Amino acid sequence: MAEMRGIDAAISELDRARRIAVVAHKGPDGDAIGSSLALALMLRSLGKEVRHYARLEDIGAPRVMDGLDSLSRPEAAATDPAPDLLVCLDCATVERILVPYFRDNFAKFRSLVIDHHESNPRYGDVNFVVDDASSTGELVWMIAKRAGWKMDRMVAEALWVAIVTDTGRFSYGATHPSTLECGADLLRRGVRHEYLNDQIFSKEALNTALLRARAYSTLETWFDGAVAVIRLDAGDYEEFGCRKADSEEFVNIPRSVRGVKLAIFFYRSASEEKCTHLSIRACGGVDACAFASLFGGGGHRAASGATIDCGVDEAIARVRATLENFLSTT
Ligand code: 5GP
Ligand code: MN
Repeated sequence: MAEMRGIDAAISELDRARRIAVVAHKGPDGDAIGSSLALALMLRSLGKEVRHYARLEDIGAPRVMDGLDSLSRPEAAATDPAPDLLVCLDCATVERILVPYFRDNFAKFRSLVIDHHESNPRYGDVNFVVDDASSTGELVWMIAKRAGWKMDRMVAEALWVAIVTDTGRFSYGATHPSTLECGADLLRRGVRHEYLNDQIFSKEALNTALLRARAYSTLETWFDGAVAVIRLDAGDYEEFGCRKADSEEFVNIPRSVRGVKLAIFFYRSASEEKCTHLSIRACGGVDACAFASLFGGGGHRAASGATIDCGVDEAIARVRATLENFLSTT
């Protein structure tokens, strides 16, 4: 894995700060919520005053983790006492930060960025960003090991959830020997891996399964099978009483089609949303991050996302038009 530049600076920032705000990215996935929860729990046991901002209802399957009972509502950030340090985890850019108040007033706070997105411009005062790390969870584990912090079972489980969700259970390319060593260390700390994996990867509510069936029914391929797409609009989510978090893994539906180089899931999850989100996965030589950046998004080579300022039909038309050129030049 790439160098560990920034880890000691990150530890000394965390040591020095007394009041700390911990925040991950909008629409938090397992890595975002797991890495931020683990860090918040450890900092609290070091005696720091910690606020971990997220909404429980925005969290999908990783909600099974213990320790999510002390979240702060994002809207409270504007009136909470100002933190000495704002820690942003798994956020590739300032715009991705989950709390609007911190996005809008970012420059007013001393900031530490812990992330593994290659598109991250190192926007913090201190940055511990490792491009090819498996997950932000693994980076938090490295910090804790190096700093000698205690990791109890609850912390270890939050890190486990972060790592297994971002690596597809230790299967994606960014799974390094260090990732498996981290996994082994977490298991030794008592992680209930069978329970957590089963809850996160093998179980879903009936309405989510029905929404999944709807998503399957929209599956199509473009450009002789090079691209596979699915789509869900606000009406689909409303019909089944589902939220965005319920469809976090649906991009695996088009991704699973043999021969596909690029899989895209288009979604707009509530009628008040004026924009369409894209969840993008690349196989083989295609760069999903480069493609997402054509629409102002970003992420990793293999997994990225973007938000387009229009409805689903128009977003699909725009993406399809752009893809023709993109595929012929890659
Ligand atoms: P997902 O498809 O799972 O939502 O996101 C895949 C990856 O792309 C994640 O690493 C996520 O942080 C990143 N990502 C998703 N949406 C956006 C976006 O709108 N902008 C940027 N910069 N990154 C995104
Ligand atoms: Mn991540």
